[in-house]
Amino acid sequence: MGCSWNEECGIFGVYGHPEAANLTYLGLYALQHRGQESAGIVSSDGKGIYAHKEMGLVAEIFDQDILKRLPGSNAIGHVRYSTAGASHLKNAQPFVFDYSKGGIAIAHNGNLINAQALREQLEREGAIFQSTMDTEVIIHLFAHAAIGSTVERVITALKEVQGSYSLLFLNEKELIAVRDPYGFRPLVLGRIKQGYVVGSETCAFDLIGAEFIREIEPGEVVLINEAGIASFHPFPRVKHQFCIFEFIYFARPDSYIFGHNVYQVRRELGVQLAKEHPVEADVVIPTPDSGIPAAIGFAHQSGIPLELGIIRNHYVGRTFIEPRDAIRHFGVKIKLSAVKEALKDKRVVVVDDSIVRGTTARKNMRMIKNSGAREVHARISCPPIIGSCFYGIDTPTREELIASSHSVEEVRKFIHVDSLGYLSLEGLKQCVAPREDEFCYACFTGEYPCEPPSDNAQLDFFIKEV
Ligand code: AMP
Repeated sequence: MGCSWNEECGIFGVYGHPEAANLTYLGLYALQHRGQESAGIVSSDGKGIYAHKEMGLVAEIFDQDILKRLPGSNAIGHVRYSTAGASHLKNAQPFVFDYSKGGIAIAHNGNLINAQALREQLEREGAIFQSTMDTEVIIHLFAHAAIGSTVERVITALKEVQGSYSLLFLNEKELIAVRDPYGFRPLVLGRIKQGYVVGSETCAFDLIGAEFIREIEPGEVVLINEAGIASFHPFPRVKHQFCIFEFIYFARPDSYIFGHNVYQVRRELGVQLAKEHPVEADVVIPTPDSGIPAAIGFAHQSGIPLELGIIRNHYVGRTFIEPRDAIRHFGVKIKLSAVKEALKDKRVVVVDDSIVRGTTARKNMRMIKNSGAREVHARISCPPIIGSCFYGIDTPTREELIASSHSVEEVRKFIHVDSLGYLSLEGLKQCVAPREDEFCYACFTGEYPCEPPSDNAQLDFFIKEV
């Protein structure tokens, strides 16, 4: 069985707080948008480590009794996104392993590019894998690095892996947080009373009243133990590759990551979009929820009033949760509905964050037309997506990405709108200036910062997993 993608996850950890598991539960609750398939918490009390993980949402999985069975002042947790074919409890994180010196748990957000090759090598040497997740490779490499302290062994292991990783490790007495040298995925550090917190996004800190200290730097290893906090930079420096899609779609608007507040960047994307693709219209309509900040920016810049012409049913999960096309279409239908009174006889600008396969936009635009809109103009706050992501965002294969094989005009026809405008790459970069050169734009350019697996390898993976 191959290693599966470890996409779109959220991680959170607490060190040195008497209610570590409870706070981790709340941290995961705030990070639920990063993964809704499974969740888990591992705690430690200086003597042992204790774990609970299940399929489902954080609030459904944990209750008082379960949290009581996770004692100690240190904990890490993980929420995982749904991925095709690999939806099993055995792939839920954090993973817990016993090795010669005790137990260790690991929680990973990202995707290891060379996991399959490393796994085959480890299996040849006799390793037995419990899951199909790339993350498990790190643990085997850790166990192989037979000498040194925990943090030294973590570093030795990570020197072998390539790709994207924001990682948390927990043993009986220490918490270690690592961000890969490219910095693909976010990871932030904070304080709560005498303790420390780490997590994917600052929105988790806000919920529990923790103070944001700083982002963990690309290539930084942070060790937190009784002695306090220590920072290491053991990896060669490389050009940073922060994931631009975190700003476009994935992260929560109230979070601060990669040196910016997510909402402000998204609003700016809308401002820029209105400058690039102005249109005469009566109303600006956001596609909830992901299109709202950009629609606000678009309305502000264009002077066209913003109206809530589409309402989202918040009790339906995100479109991508369902693994099969047929169910996904159904999801779109039950997820969004039109406010006819806001649309009828109007020239409408509909703002959304992205078009991936084009299915959502097609249904959405049809719904708006059917509600009596006179004209429908689609505005998308990112450039056409032409490449799959190999660094932790769950994008479909290139063939399924509508813009990889269709011109803007063809996409316009497919989604049945009067005009379609995508934000330009240059415009996007301006919105994250002056650090625009530190981002990965591979999904828009097809230029991958570190070698993606060949298409065949990816196909092979899907065949093996399904
Ligand atoms: P579609 O074009 O039908 O594949 O879906 C595009 C919509 O899905 C966009 O409007 C986004 O709001 C949302 N979306 C974009 N990327 C992702 C992703 N990686 N995971 C889940 N939803 C996404």
